[in-house]
Amino acid sequence: MKETASIEQLAALVDFSADAVVLVDADGVIRWANPATPDVLGYAAADLVGVRVRDLVEPEDQQAWSALVAELFDRPAAPVMGSFRCRHRDGSVRWTEGVARNLLQEPRVGAIVVYYRDVTARKQTEAALRATEDRYGHLFEAAADIIFEADAEGCFRFVNPETLRVFGYERDEVIGRRFTEFIRADYRPSILQHYDKQTREGVLNSYVEFPAITKDGREVWLGQNAWIVLDATGQYTGMQAVARDITERRGAEDALRAAEAKYRALVEQSLVGVYILQNERLVYVNPKGADILGYAQQELLDLPSAYSLLHDQDRAIVIDQLARLGTAGASSVQLTVRGTRKDSTVVQTEAFCTITEFGNQPAILATVIDISDRVKLEDQLRHSQKMEAVGRLAGGIAHDFNNLLTAIRGNAELMSNRVKHDPAMAAEVDEILHAADRAASLTRQLLLFSRKQVLQPVALDLNEIVGNVARMARRLIGADVQLRLELAPTVAQVLADPAQIEQVLLNLIVNARDAMPHGGRIQVSTENARLRIGAPDTTHSGLAPGPYVLLAVADNGVGMDQSTQARIFEPFFTTKETGRGTGLGLATAYAIVRQSGGAITVTSERGEGASFRVLLPALTGETP
Ligand code: ADP
Ligand code: MG
Repeated sequence: MKETASIEQLAALVDFSADAVVLVDADGVIRWANPATPDVLGYAAADLVGVRVRDLVEPEDQQAWSALVAELFDRPAAPVMGSFRCRHRDGSVRWTEGVARNLLQEPRVGAIVVYYRDVTARKQTEAALRATEDRYGHLFEAAADIIFEADAEGCFRFVNPETLRVFGYERDEVIGRRFTEFIRADYRPSILQHYDKQTREGVLNSYVEFPAITKDGREVWLGQNAWIVLDATGQYTGMQAVARDITERRGAEDALRAAEAKYRALVEQSLVGVYILQNERLVYVNPKGADILGYAQQELLDLPSAYSLLHDQDRAIVIDQLARLGTAGASSVQLTVRGTRKDSTVVQTEAFCTITEFGNQPAILATVIDISDRVKLEDQLRHSQKMEAVGRLAGGIAHDFNNLLTAIRGNAELMSNRVKHDPAMAAEVDEILHAADRAASLTRQLLLFSRKQVLQPVALDLNEIVGNVARMARRLIGADVQLRLELAPTVAQVLADPAQIEQVLLNLIVNARDAMPHGGRIQVSTENARLRIGAPDTTHSGLAPGPYVLLAVADNGVGMDQSTQARIFEPFFTTKETGRGTGLGLATAYAIVRQSGGAITVTSERGEGASFRVLLPALTGETP
């Protein structure tokens, strides 16, 4: 090939050019066109010759065309570029783009040389792209959410106005800083770790919540959706995120959680049993509720029917009452109901039941108190009131009776003097005197029991009392009954009348002997004791908590059933044959012990012996 192209070669360049090439004269009229021209505007080269270029240009671009022409004449020989909409031969509008050179002054050319091509497709793509950018740009700018993009280092690349508004920063204070800087310090490591993991594992999208700190130091909770951004080669180039201020929601949730914790604690620590019942089953029970029934909480929840916990005699009524709940006006019901504890003992309760909801289903809420102790106390009170009444009665009679006895005895003595000479008669009068003495001693007991006799309390040692009585009692009880003492080395002193306490102990020992017609063993023991709140001794005896001395008398005799035990402290209650028992021994003991500030209790079973416990308050420095 030669260094310079031949004319033919140059002609081929123009003829086979993909661009349209035309030569235009000074009036703007096309003088020559290459074969490619039909590809652009649909006109064959021959049709174009003689056409004024301006006539091809759409009205909107006429002005731009004039500007181009002006520039061509201003800058001869310089390339001038332009882009215009032109009318295609088929009527459609096409975007053309071209470059022209004014070579009119070139002696051998004498024309304006124009190259142009159809760029409609590109223009359309550009327009679409611009529209999209506009649209998303608006969304980005106007969004009420935080939107940002961070680069591969996690530094802000773009942030929308909402981001700046929430954080109170200017744009240039933010761009280029790592977004993790704005996260509350204690949350930073976990959030970083979260996004590291997301990038490493190629998780596209994730949601996290964290507290962020604003420019003025406020805390804002954000819920953030982020996704990773990859370039065309699949390389990680950063992330985009949309975040929302969820401070209010978090606050509400925190408040709810706190309130829930508070109410939970209230219910869990309540001294009232709380039960929620749904379709016969317990779905919730608090610790106290489990305690009342002697079960573990879970055991109760596992029961197929809560009704099995009701006392047989109360079950039908309770089920009936509960069934009425929620029907016609009955929104609550109060029940006194007996329950059966796990150890099959009976618990007396008072229950307040209302309709509630549990897991969006109707349920029954029962708040329950254990009134067993109260019922027992009420029984005790009734009992002592009865004792009091009988005592008063007996005391009144005993008083009059004593007067009568004085008269009987006085007269019998006078008579006895007069009948000395008649031995038979004297013996009969002696019988009268003897009976009068026995009656007098009985009356003394009655008076004692009815509290008409004044006690003379002194500080005394129960061990000493036991020693005195034991000497006396050994003669009384017979050879086949063994008397064993088991005394604490030292016991606290108690405040009581020694003669009366001796009487109490003696009564108990005599009763024990009576209970062992075929011999046996009586054990008398003393012990320092401390009553604690809620301990059986405290609840059974109604004594205040504190230090006491225990005096116990136990035997292995015939024992008693429950119905006998319930009555033994009543005056005149005896199971012994007439003439043997007065029924005053224990009533007297009861009266003395109560007056001394103590209590007497019994545990026994038929055939299993009996054990009496006397508790007397210990004398301590503080209490007089
Ligand atoms: P009395 O001894 O005159 O019958 P008490 O008041 O002393 O009257 O006793 C009342 C009843 O209590 C006795 O009749 C007996 O049934 C019962 N009792 C008392 N102590 C015992 C005991 N240790 N073992 C069995 N029963 C007893
Ligand atoms: Mg007796």
